[in-house]
Amino acid sequence: MKYCKKCIMPATRPEQVFTDDICDACHSSERKHNDLDWNKRQQEFETILSKYRGDGSWYDCIIPVSGGKDSCYQAITMRDKYKMNPLCVTHTPCELTEVGHKNLNFLRDQGFDIVHISGNRKNYKELMKIGFFKLGDCCWPEHIGIFTVPARMAVSYKIPLIIWGENSQFEYGGPASKRENSYLDRNWLEQFQMCNHRLEDIEHDGVKLNDVKFLHYPSDEDIQNVGVTGLFLGYYEKWDSKRNGDMMLELGWHKNPDGPVEGAYNDIENLDCKWIGGLHDYMKFIKFGYGRATDQLCIEIRAGRMSREKAIESLLKTDEGEIPWKYIPDLLNYLNISEEEFLNNLDNFTNKNIFKRNPEDGSLMKDQNRNLIRKYLPN
Ligand SMILES: [Zn+2]
Repeated sequence: MKYCKKCIMPATRPEQVFTDDICDACHSSERKHNDLDWNKRQQEFETILSKYRGDGSWYDCIIPVSGGKDSCYQAITMRDKYKMNPLCVTHTPCELTEVGHKNLNFLRDQGFDIVHISGNRKNYKELMKIGFFKLGDCCWPEHIGIFTVPARMAVSYKIPLIIWGENSQFEYGGPASKRENSYLDRNWLEQFQMCNHRLEDIEHDGVKLNDVKFLHYPSDEDIQNVGVTGLFLGYYEKWDSKRNGDMMLELGWHKNPDGPVEGAYNDIENLDCKWIGGLHDYMKFIKFGYGRATDQLCIEIRAGRMSREKAIESLLKTDEGEIPWKYIPDLLNYLNISEEEFLNNLDNFTNKNIFKRNPEDGSLMKDQNRNLIRKYLPN
């Protein structure tokens, strides 16, 4: 398995392009720190905002929030630095954690109104089953809802401007044509969030389209009538998730109470959903051979806060690649499936070429804790 020479990202990452043995996220990072004219972009942003800024009698922008450090940073920045009047919108994740709940309250305590949309749980559960068993993404409906719900609220409340956080293709790698995008629209959503499973396909899986109204992106006509525009804040100002985290912690935001999230290096990311931190990232690990800790350590390297050697050393100390048992009993209960069905499905989604197999029958080798054994590590 090939790894980036600068960070520790493997070439198995989907849509990753390597040039001169360096991943495109590292190339973006070079541009971010050395080439881009951030003052110019800031001015561009001010010009756009001046067209939307209201007098305070109604909201003038929507901030999609999960209560995470980045979305809290977005809300506070848009209000205090850019003098906008944000309405926060949250799509309730599959299963909200206690710390996730606390952080949404933190945002309200900071003086924000939040609209909560919590989908019909009966159908949501069916969608999660499709995600887990068919697409290998246990949080599939969550990934759709966090993008469709703010757009629907923009239309319903007639607030045309949506401010997203970072452009993940720029920060973490993706197709060149999307890396310099300043905006997010339906095409972006379908390309990056749907796992090639269109919402229409769920009819074949026994879920009616009318039962998941909030997961439909608004019609083009509605979008045009209100003039909905979604901008990435990370396009206009230099994105730094560590700065966001530090700023929020100082204001009283809550990190994960029991240390690093399962499979992660840090304790400040993916805190809101019981399954997105552990299981979602674990499923990425079995498909591509890297998990959340790798992502986070790559960010440390690119930001110049850690050497590549130290990152490899730190990676080995994390529990990336171990089955995240903490919330799995809750998941089995929620989906009403057995542990065996659960583990078999994980095996189905495991890329057999990147983990050790028994020479006799080719089956996946596991350690005494039923964890896979890596064949490759960055070096
Ligand atoms: Zn890299």
